[in-house]
Amino acid sequence: MSSSDEEGSGEEYLFKIVIIGDSAVGKSNLLSRYARNEFNAHSKATIGVEFQTQSMEIDGKEVKAQIWDTAGQERFRAVTSAYYRGAVGALIVYDITRKTTFESVGRWLDELKTHSDTTLAMMLVGNKCDLEDIRAVSVEDGRSLAEAEGLFFMETSALDSTNVIKAFELVIQEIYNNVS
Ligand code: GDP
Ligand code: MG
Repeated sequence: MSSSDEEGSGEEYLFKIVIIGDSAVGKSNLLSRYARNEFNAHSKATIGVEFQTQSMEIDGKEVKAQIWDTAGQERFRAVTSAYYRGAVGALIVYDITRKTTFESVGRWLDELKTHSDTTLAMMLVGNKCDLEDIRAVSVEDGRSLAEAEGLFFMETSALDSTNVIKAFELVIQEIYNNVS
C-alpha cells in the first residue's frame, strides 16, 4: 500500500514536435515565445539550435515536448527526412498577411505525410494575427482548410503572445491522448 514507488512515478513522456511552413511565417519566434517567452523582431534564419524542450503537466505526469525548428532550409525546400523522423506532432504555420504562405500549406502537409509513419497530432497555425489591418487570409479560410484536412486550427501572434501557449499545449495534449 505505502510502497516507495508511487503509482505512475515510473512513467515518462517525451514527444517530438516539428514546426513547418514557409520562410518568415514566424516559426522560430513561436518557439522562442513558447519555450523562453522571447520575441525577436529582427530574427534572421535560425542558426544552430535544433530543438528546445518544454514541459507541461498532464494527469499529474510530466510531459516533455522536444520541439524542432528548421534552420532556414525551408527556403530551399530542403527540409530533410531526419527533421521529421520520430515526430508525433506538428504545427503547420502560415502568415495571415501573406496568402502565398497559406497556399503552401498543402505542400507542407504532403511532405509531412510522406515522411511520417505514425499518427500525428497536427495543428494549422495562422500566425501574426496582431497584424489585422494587413490581413490577407480570413479566419474562415483558415478554419475551413483545417477542417477539410482534419487539423486543429488556431490563429496566433508570437509578437503579442496570443494563443501561443494554447496552440502548443493543445498539440501536446492531443499527442498524449493518442498514446495513453
Ligand atoms: P521563420 O522563418 O518562420 O522562423 O520566421 P521568424 O520567426 O524568423 O520570423 C520572421 C519575421 O516575422 C521576423 O521579422 C519576426 O520578427 C516576424 N514575426 C514573427 N512572428 C510574428 C508575429 O506574430 N507578429 C508579427 N507582427 N511579426 C512576427
Ligand atoms: Mg526560423
